Amino acid sequence: MPYAQSAQLFARGCGVFPDGTTRATVERDPIPRYILKGEGAYLIDVDGQRFLDLNNNFTTLIHGHGFSPALDAVARLLRDGTCFSNPTVHEIDLAELLVDRIPAVEQIRFVNTGTEAVMFAIKAARAFTGRPGVARVEGAYHGSYDWAEAGQGGTPSTWGSPDAPVAVPAYAGTPASVADDVVILRFNDAEGARRRIAAAADRLACILLDPMPSRGGLIPPDPDFIAAVVETARNYGILVVCDEVLNLRQSYRGASARYGIEPDLIAAGKIIGGGFPIGAIGGSRRVMSVFDGSAGRAKLAQGGTFSANPVSMVAGRVSMEALTELAFDRLEELGDRLRAALTAAIDRHRTHHVISGAASLFRIHPKRTLPHDYREVYPLPHETASMKEMTRFFRNEGVILPDGAAGCLSTAMSDADIDKITDVFERFLVTTPVSAGEAR
Ligand code: PMP
Repeated sequence: MPYAQSAQLFARGCGVFPDGTTRATVERDPIPRYILKGEGAYLIDVDGQRFLDLNNNFTTLIHGHGFSPALDAVARLLRDGTCFSNPTVHEIDLAELLVDRIPAVEQIRFVNTGTEAVMFAIKAARAFTGRPGVARVEGAYHGSYDWAEAGQGGTPSTWGSPDAPVAVPAYAGTPASVADDVVILRFNDAEGARRRIAAAADRLACILLDPMPSRGGLIPPDPDFIAAVVETARNYGILVVCDEVLNLRQSYRGASARYGIEPDLIAAGKIIGGGFPIGAIGGSRRVMSVFDGSAGRAKLAQGGTFSANPVSMVAGRVSMEALTELAFDRLEELGDRLRAALTAAIDRHRTHHVISGAASLFRIHPKRTLPHDYREVYPLPHETASMKEMTRFFRNEGVILPDGAAGCLSTAMSDADIDKITDVFERFLVTTPVSAGEAR
């Protein structure tokens, strides 16, 4: 068995964790592979197998594994202390870098995860507007705050009619009141967005928008949709919150800047921590003033034992400094090359696949044409089976392609790595057995 050591660890894990691991997102086929270490673009598992890593801890590691400048900076810091109840210079350094780069961010607060960042962005919008509700896009993932996750995992039997998508609760026992305060919009449906936002306007604090939701298919936003959302929000005094936890990696100035959105708040995370836990809420001074407790009690008190810990701050700053405009240009070129090469392979073999994504992100869909929203992205059973075969094929060829075939590149990758991904994909298309054949 090529994963005997992983199997042993998984057996131990099953004794202490409800499903053997401690993250719902851990991939298992048939069991999770336990990692010994990461090296640049590669992962080495406990059985000694080496994989090109297209997951990068769900897009976090934009420099790949073991990025030495960040690790050296953290190593120098460690003996001086890893967390304090007092502030340090390191939080100001990272904050200044982000304020400097991201147009929507005049002021910022740090937390520890993207979930917290989205949660506090929603709470900030509530504190600012005095209203409770959130409008969000169907299928998008925003972490696990109740109001951010309702509507993320709908299926054809639960998601409701196209005109009235349902805020499907994420788990049994979610208070019914959560759904009352969540309005679901369909991605790229400008008219529907106008209508649904206007109908609920007096209860809405914010519209939570990821410009290119990963679970929604990494599909480009239609400019009309973005304009409809932003205009309607402005008309009713509703705040626009961009969730850039994942998509900040789309450019030097982030995703909202890339897509011409001027949000009131953004939520960030992942890449800004240089491989350590982080989240951030940033926005205009006017809105961020809800966090200001200097004259007594803040409208919104936000703390957190590990918030702004110096380890994440230093690793994040060093890692972001290395992400120059040139570094982003190179990532974009690598991504463009990969998406073009995958598309060319599909054309050569005339299979029913299509590629989406932007910058360092890509996704392979088992579809004839590019989907427009979550409902079109949603895979049919034979498509799910063929995608499973694809990720298995990639793994057997030494490439970790995340489930759903949504992958990301890192600055540690070379042209040879892009060729390798393309070559494995092409061989998959040639040798695909039965169930993928149905997608042809
Ligand atoms: N928002 C988006 C868009 C995300 O991709 C994620 C994580 N995948 C989150 C929020 C939650 O971030 P975290 O896992 O750090 O809590």
